[in-house]
Amino acid sequence: MAHELLLRGGLVVTVDDSLGDLADADVLIRDGVIVAVGPGLSTSSKNAEAIDCKGRLVIPGLVDTHRHVWQGAIGAFTPQMTGAGYGPAVLNGISTRYEPEDIYAGALWGALQALDAGITTIADWAHNLRSAEHANANLRGLQESGIRGYFLYGGPGPTTDAPNPPHPQDARRMRDAHFPNGMNGRLRMGMALRGPCFTSAERNAEDFKFARELGLPISTHVGMAGTSDAINVLDRFGLLGRDVNYVHANMLTGQEFDLIAKSKGTISLTPSTDMLMQFGTFPATGPALQRGIRSGFGVDTVCSCGTDIFSEMRLALAAERSRANAPALARGEQVPTVALHQRDMLRLATLDGARVWDMDDEVGSLTPGKQADVTVIDMRSPHLDGYGDIIATMVLGAGPADVETVIVGGDIVKQNGRLVGEHIGKARELMLVSRERVRAREAAAVHA
Ligand SMILES: [Zn+2]
Repeated sequence: MAHELLLRGGLVVTVDDSLGDLADADVLIRDGVIVAVGPGLSTSSKNAEAIDCKGRLVIPGLVDTHRHVWQGAIGAFTPQMTGAGYGPAVLNGISTRYEPEDIYAGALWGALQALDAGITTIADWAHNLRSAEHANANLRGLQESGIRGYFLYGGPGPTTDAPNPPHPQDARRMRDAHFPNGMNGRLRMGMALRGPCFTSAERNAEDFKFARELGLPISTHVGMAGTSDAINVLDRFGLLGRDVNYVHANMLTGQEFDLIAKSKGTISLTPSTDMLMQFGTFPATGPALQRGIRSGFGVDTVCSCGTDIFSEMRLALAAERSRANAPALARGEQVPTVALHQRDMLRLATLDGARVWDMDDEVGSLTPGKQADVTVIDMRSPHLDGYGDIIATMVLGAGPADVETVIVGGDIVKQNGRLVGEHIGKARELMLVSRERVRAREAAAVHA
């Protein structure tokens, strides 16, 4: 018998232009798929489950297009560090204390952090895979969390021109063993490459060639402080393409953005990392939107930034308006309204994010036929009980604690404001134990 779930009576923001917003509407889910959206829907099976969504906002599950999930266990480890300090402290520091069991604990806890914040699709730029066992452990953490998205196979860094074992060669084993048909449950695989900012142009070309030989999409950090000319290097070697995801991109030139647009590449916008860690001045939101480049948000560096997309939406909007307002203010002018709307941010956080990873046929909007990935936000609290546009209220005020229900592929992973499932308690315990192990190894290394 089909399993049905009915989300009843919410304000449903579909992020599907043909459906729009629907007040006092239902979302009917059958066997993990959205089958109908609209008022007064009824279920066909007797054992259908219903969730009251009155006073709640029902939106597509949020999409995080770039995150280092293993850092879930070390939040705020580097609160004041810029990119320059982060390398020694994290990539060459605490990262090296991680054994496979710690990666497993970090990835599981980090993915649960994302789900708790209403993020149902994630691209995990897994860059602490120091052995094949680390890679297996990272994947296992993601799998057990129930999240959807990409496992992006990366090597430890910061990087050199060396072949960087086991990455990228171990990626072939990983693909064959765990993604034989391109999928592993809700997960797919891609390559997290050093890119031309962290290795020579020739080595980078080999890395790109290898990823394409494996048929895996590529994600790489470019266009942040301390790097230059990455896109032109890729262009000179004929490596730009639709299968490349560029992270940060905030310091690229207009000409480089044009090359990304022409080659149909994608951008992961990372407002908090860009601005908190001196990766640049303004995130790439404006230049990307102007050129119609497929773009979405990334929380990115969990040990220096937050864990949720609400903050990214707010920071991106504030930064982009600040950038747009600066020339007028310099002329002593004031304008009555500003261009970008909070709704533009929600689109980047949902459908546009899904487009970055070519998953928009599957998720990103509440469209019948898509996977039932849904985030329900309780809007009845004083800080969310707005008078005007409810999306603006949500974007400006919501946080993970306001996320009441989260559904991935029809499975309820958070309900009544709490993550559900027996694995939650275990995951927290594993994370705490791992944290102590890592702390002890850090202390021993410092005193050695
Ligand atoms: Zn990153």
